[in-house]
Amino acid sequence: MKILIINCGSSSLKYELFTMPKERSLIKGAIEHIAEKGTKIKDHYSGLKMILSRVGEVDAVGHRLVHGGEKFQKPVLIDKEVISKIRACSKLAPLHNPANLEGIIAARRLLGEGISQVAVFDTAFYSHLPDFAYIYGLPYEFYQRLGIRRYGFHGTSHEYIARKSSAVLKQPLRKLKIITCHLGNGCSITAIKGGRAIDTSMGFTPLEGLIMGTRCGDIDPAIITYLVRDRGWRIEKVDNILNKQSGLKGISGISNDMRQLQRKVKEGNRRAKLAIDIFIYRIRKYIGAYLAILGGCDALIFTAGIGEHQRGIRRRICSRLFSHLKTKPRILVIPTREELMIAHKTYQLVYGDR
Ligand code: ADP
Repeated sequence: MKILIINCGSSSLKYELFTMPKERSLIKGAIEHIAEKGTKIKDHYSGLKMILSRVGEVDAVGHRLVHGGEKFQKPVLIDKEVISKIRACSKLAPLHNPANLEGIIAARRLLGEGISQVAVFDTAFYSHLPDFAYIYGLPYEFYQRLGIRRYGFHGTSHEYIARKSSAVLKQPLRKLKIITCHLGNGCSITAIKGGRAIDTSMGFTPLEGLIMGTRCGDIDPAIITYLVRDRGWRIEKVDNILNKQSGLKGISGISNDMRQLQRKVKEGNRRAKLAIDIFIYRIRKYIGAYLAILGGCDALIFTAGIGEHQRGIRRRICSRLFSHLKTKPRILVIPTREELMIAHKTYQLVYGDR
């Protein structure tokens, strides 16, 4: 079976074609700058049309969806009702869901309803978080009426590396306590017990938690009140700073790219060093917290750009981290393959019961 995986961003369209169940990747690529000035590809529809002419016939399509709210706890076959439910979740992810939806609508127009399409949600892996992990210390009505809670993101990646670790450790997932670190431009960390996520660092949005390339992660929310009320800043400006001008980039004043910061550290740049120190410190704090809630840990797993390639950073994160433990967790590096995970889920849903 040929399964095409589509991941639509606001101006990009990534794709990968797999033969399943062999898990062989046949072709992959990305179209960038969709609908931007001076580009030939004016929308996701034309982008996908081009991709389909490249990949030929497909048997099913899997779409990556960033936000499934509380409505979607597992992958679903897409129909009109699902589309309108995803649209309803767009309020929660105004930057991502509308672009994901454009991909779905374009694919349905181009392929017709005869080809099964599946939506796989990044938030679904967190649908079993306990309430005491996902409710914020806000008036409870905020959760009931506005849906304000911890949703968690990067779920497909954390789930993939968790499953892989069980193969590496030769132990069933249901027996394992693990901590997974996805350290790319966006960074998140998840505590997984018996295959289920019990807590994660990203929250209502991907802004919470670790220091990231350009996102601030955890801050005192009163800083926002201070900037808006006392300094008179516009909320859009604050939002832009927290998401795009903070994190490694904001602290260093140089770059969001870890490699570049390391080059600067070698030249003696102190702000670059500080940014990296804070990045590592925050991760260590979270690992400590997750050790406590898991009540032990069999493996600590790293993935994504920094997690997979930056040995020095991994070493500093792990330095004397487990010295107080009788049995030391294994430390693993597992390259993430979100597209393959989506292909798996799509295949299972469409062909699994036959
Ligand atoms: P994204 O989250 O946008 O997919 P990545 O997972 O590639 O991005 O993560 C980007 C971060 O990973 C950057 O800080 C970059 O410096 C680092 N990184 C990516 N690839 C490598 C590599 N081959 N060697 C060292 N660092 C890398």
